[in-house]
Amino acid sequence: MDELTTLRQNVETVRSRMADALAKAGRKEGDVLLCAASKTRTPATVRLSAQLDIDLFGENHVQELVEKTDAGAYLQKPAHMIGHLQTNKVKQTVGRTALIQSVDSDRLLKAIQKEAAKQDLCQDILLEVNIGGEASKSGVAPEALWPLMEAAEALPNLRVRGLMAIPPADLSEDDARRAFAAMRTLFEQAQGRGYTRARLDILSMGMSDDFAAAILEGSTMVRVGTAIYGARYYPPKATV
Ligand SMILES: *Cc1c(COP(=O)(O)O)cnc(C)c1O
Repeated sequence: MDELTTLRQNVETVRSRMADALAKAGRKEGDVLLCAASKTRTPATVRLSAQLDIDLFGENHVQELVEKTDAGAYLQKPAHMIGHLQTNKVKQTVGRTALIQSVDSDRLLKAIQKEAAKQDLCQDILLEVNIGGEASKSGVAPEALWPLMEAAEALPNLRVRGLMAIPPADLSEDDARRAFAAMRTLFEQAQGRGYTRARLDILSMGMSDDFAAAILEGSTMVRVGTAIYGARYYPPKATV
């Protein structure tokens, strides 16, 4: 089977599982965006997939975001930054992506503000929350979320659009569901806190193994890699 046909079948399968979960949750079709997590995939593969029923792309590395944008691989669809962002990569990222989903520190907020001001634009961001355990390295602890929200509110060149989470991969199905439910609670609390600059309409959670559970708990954007593109290949590290 050619690559496009395989990708099309995979996207159709993901879409139908999304529709099932939406129906089960009593939510409307179209309530959840499908973000294709395209890290490690070539520009050619990403370009093929961009013809399909995918709403947007998510990259983990600025270099891949730049390379695939320059190659026209996303075919006018948005590409978000979803991977851990180092402060020294902020300069290349701001203004190149509609949404930075992985902001988890005051330092990063300040770096984004500085660069966005320099470029005279407003950068949309999500705050990434470390939900479901200390095993996860990225994300702000839930108890530190409100101070970070308040810090973001004070920065004129960025706008918080919502929250993102990656629960630890080794959670049981029940625990993953509980982690997603905890995220939904935080999201609703954030919406109720009367922030004036933030526009809280995105709850980004759910990956290949757990996107149905995330949709049942209120996700508005799932980030799916393996279920669309197949297993990722990472070259083995050289050993000495
Ligand atoms: C890789 C990645 C995904 C997708 O993971 P899969 O298990 O391949 O679906 C989603 N979100 C982030 C932040 C990722 O790095």
